[in-house]
Amino acid sequence: MKKIGILGGMSSASTQIYYQTLCTLTQSELGGLHSPNLLIRSVDFAPLAQHMNDGNWTAIGDVLHAEAKLLAAGGAELIVLATNTMHKLKDQITQGIDLPFIHIAGATAAAVLAGGSKRPAFFATKFTMQEAFYLDILRDNGLNPIVPNTTEQDVINNIIFDELCKNIATAESEAVYLDILNRLKAQGADTVILGCTEVCLLLNAQNTGVPVYDTTHIQCQAAIRAAGD
Ligand code: GLU
Repeated sequence: MKKIGILGGMSSASTQIYYQTLCTLTQSELGGLHSPNLLIRSVDFAPLAQHMNDGNWTAIGDVLHAEAKLLAAGGAELIVLATNTMHKLKDQITQGIDLPFIHIAGATAAAVLAGGSKRPAFFATKFTMQEAFYLDILRDNGLNPIVPNTTEQDVINNIIFDELCKNIATAESEAVYLDILNRLKAQGADTVILGCTEVCLLLNAQNTGVPVYDTTHIQCQAAIRAAGD
């Protein structure tokens, strides 16, 4: 089993889910006392979130590039960037690092296509919902994601940063998310992509009533597969 390098902490709430999911998947696949071979670098998210709000993405890329190099130097054999939004900086982060990289959008597009959906609703941070770096990958794979309007994007984004990234999941916010999802379903959405690694704290297959593509789970599955190759 190859050593998986996780670039996490963005947020710590979701990196905890990554660890739990990778352990569960490894045990169900290999049984016995098997556990995943991991190197987790959990960064302090607060200064990076400040840079995001200031639009200073180059500074974030510099930090994450240095951290990715540390994972490589520590013996990681593949890299998992445990956040959707920071894939905006994928090229800067991985520059000169010659290791397999599990792209969360590519893995997600493959999973949605395999499930037969073309019109997934898309929940993510406002950066991921508004910019091309992620949606283009979904669209290039033949998907036609239904993106919330700008008012809904603000609501989704604020809940992510004010609550979910702090590991706070409330019934009120769940109801708000389900309300938005119902509007997207009325526009034709037949599934939903949880395009932010914390949204699984609020939405799941039970409460949404549609197939759910959780990017956290999908990326963990792809990492376990790649680690076993
Ligand atoms: N974890 C989030 C994501 O998947 C948001 C935090 C971040 O901006 O990295 O996009």
